[in-house]
Amino acid sequence: MYDVIIIGGGPAGMNAGMILGRSRRKVVIFDNGKPRNRWAVAMNGFLSSDGMSPKEFLDKGREELKKYNVDIFNKTVASATYSKGAFVVNDTEGTVHRSRKLILATGLRDILPDLEGFEEMYGKSIHHCPYCDGWESKDMAIAVYGQDRKGIGQALAMKNWSDKVTLYTDGTSKLNRKDLELLSRNEVEVCTKAIARLQGKEGRLQRIILQDGEEREQQAMFFSTGTVQQCDLGEQLGCEFTSKGIIKTRRLQQSNIPGLYVAGDADRDVQLVIVAAAEGAKAGVAINMELQKEERK
Ligand SMILES: Cc1cc2nc3c(=O)[nH]c(=O)nc-3n(C[C@H](O)[C@H](O)[C@H](O)COP(=O)(O)OP(=O)(O)OC[C@H]3O[C@@H](n4cnc5c(N)ncnc54)[C@H](O)[C@@H]3O)c2cc1C
Repeated sequence: MYDVIIIGGGPAGMNAGMILGRSRRKVVIFDNGKPRNRWAVAMNGFLSSDGMSPKEFLDKGREELKKYNVDIFNKTVASATYSKGAFVVNDTEGTVHRSRKLILATGLRDILPDLEGFEEMYGKSIHHCPYCDGWESKDMAIAVYGQDRKGIGQALAMKNWSDKVTLYTDGTSKLNRKDLELLSRNEVEVCTKAIARLQGKEGRLQRIILQDGEEREQQAMFFSTGTVQQCDLGEQLGCEFTSKGIIKTRRLQQSNIPGLYVAGDADRDVQLVIVAAAEGAKAGVAINMELQKEERK
């Protein structure tokens, strides 16, 4: 019986593991190696580690956890339930693990635009988060990708980083008169034509080629297409979700299920590595305090 099972070994899960390991708790982390930012060349906006590669950051975290005797299993968790006073976790190899408390730190997955040429530039000159990659794209000719009305907010936001912003709705025309006036007032260009493909070199976007043959010079792209949970364990356990598919938590990362905590992108807050790590730390402290109360004689 573990004190705590943590599912997800990204920044949220590992920082929870660090606090709990340092609190001398018996902890295991399960991770199947798909951190959300694995496409990115750099992890920006984390004080002291700004610009470090995401892999280097996670490798360093794993190394640091060794001295606190936190087990890390490179395995996928297939199911999780609460039964007879314990969380019961099954990995995909059929092994059953039990714990007193459980942390879900399983993160989100981005719904990626279906565009030819996208994959080789994703994480290098195509991004979704201006706080992560806006600085590196400053003053560039920025394309914002969002079908229907999804890209309006992102396009307006990108004016913070560049004067040259164009919103591409890729063949959809749901922008109304007010939207168009707002975008025009803020000097955002709009292109509603369908995109044929993206063209670039060594990961750097150079132009967007439209289906009618027009070629438009662009140097960076930001997209706004939504996210989904990386796995369905939150649903299996009966967590409450927001209308956007994010798990609802309270101040110290508690979910609506007693003993179950959720940290990182999977629950509601700013989606940055430093915030995910902080939420993991909060969950770790809250769980340790809960265990202390249960153990007090
Ligand atoms: C392209 C890109 C670039 C980004 N750049 C930045 C940046 O520069 N700065 C920044 O602060 N943020 C950046 N982000 C956001 C950042 O990636 C997230 O905020 C952060 O990774 C959230 O951490 P997390 O621990 O919640 O989830 P994740 O890092 O996604 O980790 C979740 C882990 O859980 C594992 N997992 C999921 N389900 C299971 C299961 N059933 N069994 C076992 N393991 C499971 C996954 O394999 C994964 O390793 C970027 C995101 C993207 C997509």
